[in-house]
Amino acid sequence: GSIEVICGSMFSGKTEELIRRLKRAQIANQSVKIFKPAIDTRYDVENIVSHDANVIPSTPVSHSRDILLMSNNMQVVGIDEAQFFDADLPHVCEELAVRGARIIVAGLDMDYKGRPFGPMPHLLSVAEFVTKLHAICVKCGNLASHSYRKKIIIDQDSQVVLGEKDLYEPRCRICYHSEFDINGDIIPIAIERINN
Ligand code: ZN
Repeated sequence: GSIEVICGSMFSGKTEELIRRLKRAQIANQSVKIFKPAIDTRYDVENIVSHDANVIPSTPVSHSRDILLMSNNMQVVGIDEAQFFDADLPHVCEELAVRGARIIVAGLDMDYKGRPFGPMPHLLSVAEFVTKLHAICVKCGNLASHSYRKKIIIDQDSQVVLGEKDLYEPRCRICYHSEFDINGDIIPIAIERINN
């Protein structure tokens, strides 16, 4: 088997790419099972729903070990929102891959502070194939790799604040480290943000 990781910022199309690969496996008559962390209930508890509303049935699990128990004889195993899983997820993926399964994992590589997110760095290291997707920076139109948490909730220190376009926006590296006034004009770069 093998491990594929699809990573990138929010709004970069990770779930769409995951669904595309899983649907192609289904078309090829391979057995497919999809998991997501039970924590992610933004849209739907039973299905993985991308921003394009492509739906594929999925199983919410609380611990990555549950994936091992529920993936017997599956040829392809998809895992969405992998950043929210516990530290055992890379070992679970490796064990399934050794058993012969194709594992496709999608997740945020960085949290809103630009830090490596949960088990993702480990997964990126052990994967055979890595795809890094980009969104478009809402400030300048360049490729965006950062998920900027809007000021409205930036005081909440929790790494896990589920949300969508009301809470986060994709930004490139420079705009991520910049402040903008209400007219959208750049104001002097806030150095403390870079050091955090
Ligand atoms: Zn930008």
